[in-house]
Amino acid sequence: MGCSDPDNSNKWARHSMVIVPTNAPGITQVRNLTIMGYDHAPEGHGEYLYENVRVPIENMILGEGRAFEIAQGRLGPGRIHHCMRLIGQCERAYELALIRCIDKRKTPRGKLIGQFDSNIERIAQMRLEIDQARLVVLNAADTMDVHGNKAGRYAIAQSKILIPNMATRVIDGCMQMYGGQGLTQHTPLPEMWTYARFVRIADGPDSAHRHQVGRDELKAAEAFVERNKEYRRKYLRLAEDMGGKAETFWGITPDV
Ligand SMILES: Cc1cc2nc3c(=O)[nH]c(=O)nc-3n(C[C@H](O)[C@H](O)[C@H](O)COP(=O)(O)OP(=O)(O)OC[C@H]3O[C@@H](n4cnc5c(N)ncnc54)[C@H](O)[C@@H]3O)c2cc1C
Repeated sequence: MGCSDPDNSNKWARHSMVIVPTNAPGITQVRNLTIMGYDHAPEGHGEYLYENVRVPIENMILGEGRAFEIAQGRLGPGRIHHCMRLIGQCERAYELALIRCIDKRKTPRGKLIGQFDSNIERIAQMRLEIDQARLVVLNAADTMDVHGNKAGRYAIAQSKILIPNMATRVIDGCMQMYGGQGLTQHTPLPEMWTYARFVRIADGPDSAHRHQVGRDELKAAEAFVERNKEYRRKYLRLAEDMGGKAETFWGITPDV
């Protein structure tokens, strides 16, 4: 994806997407990139140098200036798939935590791991968090199925913010219950946690989604001013009917 028409007054039509074969002259692979120390090569991520690379015009996808249409079309479904996979990873991590709870080989201070109050509460909290996250993703998937990807924008953003954050917390709790072993390759937990952490960034950082959701929510503020005026009117009517003296709550009860 590259900027093909920087002066276009429509900023969403400035970019185009082309397929560039990896053996095209002018491409140099500088290095593979690790993700938090994990090697995702060869299908993972790399750093490439493009020097006067030329490709035939047929390599353009969809048409000139339509890169954002492609990116936006892919991102919604891509984001929700990440969230679904993360719920699956959480279930797997949670199962491992339960197994650890009843493992008779681990009895610090003579108790099973699952007999410590902190771990009993941790197990409950993990179960609750996974279950509520599953419903959020289900709602996003259902909204997309029934009303389309565009209508699912808020529900997708909601999932993309909530689920990776939930997953880092839950998997972190499972690692804690495995003690030192939980941080080594003798459990899949560190790699699962890394996946959850990188999904907080990949396909759009959660901060950007929060920013978007927050801005959209603020658009409702004006309507709430009107609603509050109606509450105030009701309150004044009630005070009058009951022969009481209406109070003024400065700042939150606009003039009616
Ligand atoms: C493992 C992995 C795989 C990836 N795979 C792909 C891929 O397949 N295809 C692809 O195109 N990209 C991919 N990416 C790139 C990814 O989409 C970007 O890294 C991500 O969108 C953030 O963009 P950036 O790195 O330019 O960060 P920046 O835009 O520089 O953002 C840095 C930080 O600034 C803040 N910020 C930025 N914008 C806003 C905003 N609008 N509101 C509030 N805060 C904001 C956030 O805290 C954010 O984390 C991948 C990244 C990773 C880590």
